[in-house]
Amino acid sequence: MQTIGILGAGQLARMLALAGAPLGLRFLVVDTAADACAGQVAPLLLADWRDFDRLADFASRIDVATFDFENVPAETAQWLTEHVPVFPNPRALATSQDRLEEKTLFRRIGLETPDFEAVDSRDDLARAVERLGVPSILKTRRLGYDGKGQFRLKSPADVDAAWAALGGAPSILEAFVPFERELSVVAVRSREGEFRAYPLTQNWHADGILSASLAPAPDSEALAPLAFAHARRIAEELDYVGTFALELFVQGGRLLGNEMAPRVHNSGHWTIEGAPASQFENHLRAVLGLPLGDTSALDIHVMLNWVGELPPATPILAEPRAHWHDYGKSARPGRKVGHATVCARSAEEMRERLTRLGRALGREEQVAPVLAVLKGAG
Ligand code: AMP
Repeated sequence: MQTIGILGAGQLARMLALAGAPLGLRFLVVDTAADACAGQVAPLLLADWRDFDRLADFASRIDVATFDFENVPAETAQWLTEHVPVFPNPRALATSQDRLEEKTLFRRIGLETPDFEAVDSRDDLARAVERLGVPSILKTRRLGYDGKGQFRLKSPADVDAAWAALGGAPSILEAFVPFERELSVVAVRSREGEFRAYPLTQNWHADGILSASLAPAPDSEALAPLAFAHARRIAEELDYVGTFALELFVQGGRLLGNEMAPRVHNSGHWTIEGAPASQFENHLRAVLGLPLGDTSALDIHVMLNWVGELPPATPILAEPRAHWHDYGKSARPGRKVGHATVCARSAEEMRERLTRLGRALGREEQVAPVLAVLKGAG
């Protein structure tokens, strides 16, 4: 019987623990919040990320450590490696914690990115706006996720407001990309270097937070080999072990790297019901040195994210092949509190299900962009 330690006890840790139960695994989750939702399904240790006495206790009770949260301080991850195997490794974590290092890595392996400039001062920002123009997006290098730590500049006069909004933190300014669509690669690499990717997923965001995903992404066969090759190169460069996601923009048929998440990812939640081995199960297999599971898609899948508050569960529970996930969190604006995955055998069947559910849930706006894409998919 092995025990997996997870730093961060949010919904990702919760779904990892649920995926590990059939494998006979035990879990110990650690978080700074006493009500962290993975604590409802696994023992929770309360600790500050720099409380090394508590973390020593944590390390002594686990066989391997992993993350549900990439903003664990890099020195904490490094310290842990001296006590217990840690996957992904701290260098991979540190690279993906920093937007400048991440985008520099993307370019080094041949993945184009939106045009960007490093910004360390207000003057840097003014110069960057002059070169890249507007609209553009100022993003903090560190500690940003779900659209947090970002400011969209609509006019050159926004320089002061943008610099103040981010509190003068080291940042990058990115040219705004009028992309046709957003795709993600969710992939997994084993301790032995075996690499597998789930089919490309198409994603829609609202206010910078994932709103819906469709997998496999329609008409993505031509892009998939290149997208997977980029993901593989990145994982190999970082000697990455575990599940990760690479977020891509498609513009004029080209792939641009937006960011990578060094963990299981919201755009891979559909794999719980939609693949023979989910992203969560494969992450556990990878960090334990077990063979990886099949990453093919069983059908067509749509994941709808519940942000802020849950809609009524009954329409999902009443719908054939729809799956309800409630993370056991209290409602709060901008907070991910649950999701649903809808499965169907054909685009037509999916359109019917989503149309019915959108109406019953009062979420017509959320399903509309997915329906628009499914219309073109025959
Ligand atoms: P991020 O936190 O960087 O993943 O940004 C969240 C979302 O904002 C992305 O998924 C996009 O929908 C949008 N976004 C971020 N960067 C850009 C960009 N350079 N151009 C256009 N949209 C962007």
